[in-house]
Amino acid sequence: MNAAPGVKSVKIAVVGGGVGGMAAAYELKSEASRRGLELDLTVLESRDRIGGSVVTERVDGCLVEGGPDCFVSEKPWAMELVEELGLGDQLVGTNDARRGTYVLWRGRPHPLPDGLILLVPTRIMPFVTARLFTWRGKFRMALDLVLPRKSDGEDETLGDFIRRRLGGEALDKLGEPLVAGIHSGDPETMSIRATFPRFVDMEREDRSLIVAMLKRMKAARAARAAAEQTQAAAPSPGGEGQPAPRRRPRSMFVTLDEGLGLVMSELRRQVGDESVRTGTRVTRVAAGPVSGWDVETEAGETFHADGVLFASPAYETAAMVRRLSGTLAAELEDIPYVSSATVTLAYSAATFPSRLTGFGLVVPKGEHRRVKAFTWVTSKFFGRAPEDVVLMRCFIRATAGETEGMTEAEMAAAAQDELRDILGVAASPLWARAYRWDRAMAQYVVGHLARVDRIDEELSAFRGLRLAGGAYRGTGIPDTVRYSRAQARALLDDLTGRTEG
Ligand SMILES: Cc1cc2nc3c(=O)[nH]c(=O)nc-3n(C[C@H](O)[C@H](O)[C@H](O)COP(=O)(O)OP(=O)(O)OC[C@H]3O[C@@H](n4cnc5c(N)ncnc54)[C@H](O)[C@@H]3O)c2cc1C
Repeated sequence: MNAAPGVKSVKIAVVGGGVGGMAAAYELKSEASRRGLELDLTVLESRDRIGGSVVTERVDGCLVEGGPDCFVSEKPWAMELVEELGLGDQLVGTNDARRGTYVLWRGRPHPLPDGLILLVPTRIMPFVTARLFTWRGKFRMALDLVLPRKSDGEDETLGDFIRRRLGGEALDKLGEPLVAGIHSGDPETMSIRATFPRFVDMEREDRSLIVAMLKRMKAARAARAAAEQTQAAAPSPGGEGQPAPRRRPRSMFVTLDEGLGLVMSELRRQVGDESVRTGTRVTRVAAGPVSGWDVETEAGETFHADGVLFASPAYETAAMVRRLSGTLAAELEDIPYVSSATVTLAYSAATFPSRLTGFGLVVPKGEHRRVKAFTWVTSKFFGRAPEDVVLMRCFIRATAGETEGMTEAEMAAAAQDELRDILGVAASPLWARAYRWDRAMAQYVVGHLARVDRIDEELSAFRGLRLAGGAYRGTGIPDTVRYSRAQARALLDDLTGRTEG
């Protein structure tokens, strides 16, 4: 499709070079080329590296993820991007033979029963015999099978939703540490509609979460079998004797063999190094003298652009647009953020207790510990460390500012103390790496979607300004990629006068 008559070239600035900004930049470049548009693109990133929360490092032959370490495969958008980038061969699943999660309860790790999907039990015997739940708690969870659906259509907190369907014990032992934990969020403020719309759909369509989950699992199994049959019947695309393309991993979580940082470096390579400016903090966006926008940086530079895509945190974007619209800035600023911190500890396998199997342990708030969760990295993923090294990753509780003022060495020491206390790991680590993520995760509180609608409405008065990133219509890597790429195409539409259809 060609550009609208008259518009042959566009100049666009993307603010922020995290997953959102870089996925958007990649989309702008590919889509402009498809539309026959000349694109002058600049990504302006305040840090001295791109990637935002994605940081992959090599330490003593180990692969360390400082932020995200994988993404869900059920949402296809991140995997599609990885494949488009030509990195499909790098996609790997988790080591599902070692699968298993523990919940710390009254100081002791309890395994999650088999067949429990997020919150929902789908197998009877493992659930009935699980020691994590009391009989009363199990009975209350099973009541989901008969309880009526909520029909007022109103949003509610994740906490209220879980209490209503499965009871307080499910909230304390699963909902808070495991489900809200995905967003580092507080279930008593998080919006169920904005964070887990799937649960809302399940209740609306099937009333009971247990019935709905069983139905969906059956449909997924049938779809997988059908896809495998089609794949087996299809001739090899490369012709007789050619190797078949690598299949996508089937695990629930996927990552790249060489870590998520590879996606970011490949995005940078394909977007073009000349289009990426790191160490450039944007402070303000103002209307250009004749048309378009002036993007001003802390260092006093001004970039003129026809369009600006803000993939920076909402509170940073608020400061950039305040003089354009106080209302817009206030709405953006009202999106709350929480902090997080991770510590990776490497141990000699010889000194590490061998009884630890599974992917990790979550720690409910009521246990009053300094950690929220541990990931047993070398059990969860293949090839992350030499055979004789065990890697543990720890999420420090930082949502209420607990890590403020703590140095990285202090965070590492706290993780080590907790590991000793909770799991009896007495050995000293070979090394530790700590990463702090201050105000890094947007929280979708009740009313979030309505707020984002108001933000979009307000922003629509400014042609050529759009949002991207994970703060608005889906958190996590796959949703961030989906939304940011869609916003990039929409911005090109805005600038070229093309309408959907
Ligand atoms: C510790 C941690 C673990 C996570 N684990 C997972 C996981 O396992 N799986 C998963 O799917 N998701 C996970 N997430 C969430 C995931 O990382 C995010 O959804 C995603 O990275 C959001 O990308 P983004 O581009 O919107 O934001 P960011 O990564 O925050 O990027 C925003 C960018 O804007 C830049 N910036 C800020 N201000 C300015 C300015 N004024 N001018 C220019 N640039 C600016 C920042 O430096 C940053 O690079 C995790 C997040 C954290 C913090």
